[in-house]
Amino acid sequence: MRRNYIGGKWIEGSSAGENINPSDTRDVIGLYARASQAQALDAIGAAHAALPKWAAATPQQRADVLDAVGSEVAARKAELADLLAREEGKALADATGEVTRAAQIFKFFAGEALRIPGELLASTRPGMSVEITREPVGVVSIITPWNFPIAIPAWKIAPALAYGNTVVFKPAELVPGSAWALAEILSRAGLPAGTFNLVMGRGRDIGDTLLQDPRVAAVTFTGSEATGRKVAATCVTRRGAMAKFQLEMGGKNPLVVLDDADLDVAVSCAVNGAYFGTGQRCTASSRLVVSAGIHDRFVAAMVDRLATLKVGDARNPGTVIGPVVDAQQLRQDLDYIAIGREEGATLAFGGQALQSVDGQPGHYLQPALFTGTSNAMRINREEIFGPVASVIRVRDADEALAVANDTEFGLSAGVCTTSLRMAAHFKRELQAGMVMVNAPTAGVDAHVPFGGRKGSSYGPREQGRHAAEFYTSVKTTYLQP
Ligand code: ADP
Repeated sequence: MRRNYIGGKWIEGSSAGENINPSDTRDVIGLYARASQAQALDAIGAAHAALPKWAAATPQQRADVLDAVGSEVAARKAELADLLAREEGKALADATGEVTRAAQIFKFFAGEALRIPGELLASTRPGMSVEITREPVGVVSIITPWNFPIAIPAWKIAPALAYGNTVVFKPAELVPGSAWALAEILSRAGLPAGTFNLVMGRGRDIGDTLLQDPRVAAVTFTGSEATGRKVAATCVTRRGAMAKFQLEMGGKNPLVVLDDADLDVAVSCAVNGAYFGTGQRCTASSRLVVSAGIHDRFVAAMVDRLATLKVGDARNPGTVIGPVVDAQQLRQDLDYIAIGREEGATLAFGGQALQSVDGQPGHYLQPALFTGTSNAMRINREEIFGPVASVIRVRDADEALAVANDTEFGLSAGVCTTSLRMAAHFKRELQAGMVMVNAPTAGVDAHVPFGGRKGSSYGPREQGRHAAEFYTSVKTTYLQP
């Protein structure tokens, strides 16, 4: 049984949950403790008590801890990637990339801990000077989803600690394995007891506790839009001071393919962006907005390419598309495929669930491509979060841009074109936090800001130097000598 980590001690849970391999549902990876509400409160108490010491730790102490964590994650890359692929169903190559990225994030924030910036300005009043400094926010609740079991925890935990905050971390109940492994590494990295706490369990059991407690100063959340809205409402309406909060939620990201695009580049971007990671990425390009002159060639090439993608056990080196994460998500994907057909879309490829692959029972789904869709259809408005994409045919670049931006979301958007003028135009006009020119909408660097607009995100950006906005509180000091 893997236990929770509270106040520097490994603590039995009040119950436990099984971690099941979606590539082979007979394989139980392990039993993971679930924390009670009282234990979640203990973790908050521990983080609160640890705050003065960690906030006063020198930049070098913080950097050393984060550097040690990054080194160990990197050194154990193969083992951690195997665990990630086994519990989440992400193909091994992608899982390895994710673990590498987690290591890089810890290394990046080890450096950032040493260069927390401030400003010194002359005041408008004679003789006075104004100093602008950044202080820790306080106890941060970190709530993460299942689709990036180690990278998302890394990109929240590393900056939280780098800037002197203490942490209560609740990973998604479906993928506690990678989170636990990361917590175990953190437990040996030299943090004072209580600085970092792990409470595993379901959102509906302990999630609210991590938001309501007035000792929690800030909440960073990545997950569904519905839960994100609840998190926001609680942070605002709870007793006592509001919590600072940051939300990363859904996407319905467009990839625009213009007539002058390089067809191979466009197909590679679409296949990678829509289907890698089994389409379970908030940056996935689920809307392929294709102009009339290239449409038929693009669809034919997509169908050919999709037929070559091996769906199978995430840990098989030949697998490109692993299984869907669990039965509930598979049902949601299949429901949307049925909805698409009812709405009159044509299923040009895939969309069938496979009970087993190579004799293994798992949540397998052939990647699905819809054609003949309109942007008004539900399959083009609602986030499906599976290996399902739609082609939306448009007349020209103007209509492509209008369709791309006609969505409640605004996380990532891409355009494939060989025209510098068009690239510049779309770069300027796409309403998204991240724009990709001749590159997949998913797959981002670890050292630059990540986040979106409209219904996709709320609050400051994550990652890179911009992470300081959320994880620090700015103080303006006036000094008259
Ligand atoms: P997904 O299923 O896509 O991961 P969710 O929004 O359901 O998206 O879950 C994201 C994270 O939010 C998970 O860690 C989950 O346990 C947690 N969560 C779910 N409900 C709540 C809630 N009411 N309060 C706080 N956290 C929650």
